[in-house]
Amino acid sequence: MKVWELATGNWELETEMSRLATPIRKNDNVVVITGKDRGKRGRVLKVLAEKNRLVIEGVNMIKRHTKPNPQRQIKGGLVEREAGLHASNVQLVCPECGKPTRLGRRILGDGRKVRICRKCEGVVDK
Ligand SMILES: [Zn+2]
Repeated sequence: MKVWELATGNWELETEMSRLATPIRKNDNVVVITGKDRGKRGRVLKVLAEKNRLVIEGVNMIKRHTKPNPQRQIKGGLVEREAGLHASNVQLVCPECGKPTRLGRRILGDGRKVRICRKCEGVVDK
């Protein structure tokens, strides 16, 4: 059974939209598939939808020299933080089968829209 047979007819619109924005959401577990952090896994801390970028825990760390700013309670010095990564460089790790996968969409019997794993057909959204 094909996934889009279960959709309500908006499939073309949805695929159009998913080409523009990543289906990955905050708190998803992802794996980096390209670049210096290839193979690293982490949780998505932030999705910058308009730039199609993701901030992932412990991935693509950069060091910044920061000036102290007492008014905003920022201490000076070397600060390490996560830089964003383009969404095309990561894949979601399926919570069902544990493999990196691409996502499909499905509408459940109760009308809920969920993302599904294309490898095991498991529902990613609980
Ligand atoms: Zn899966």
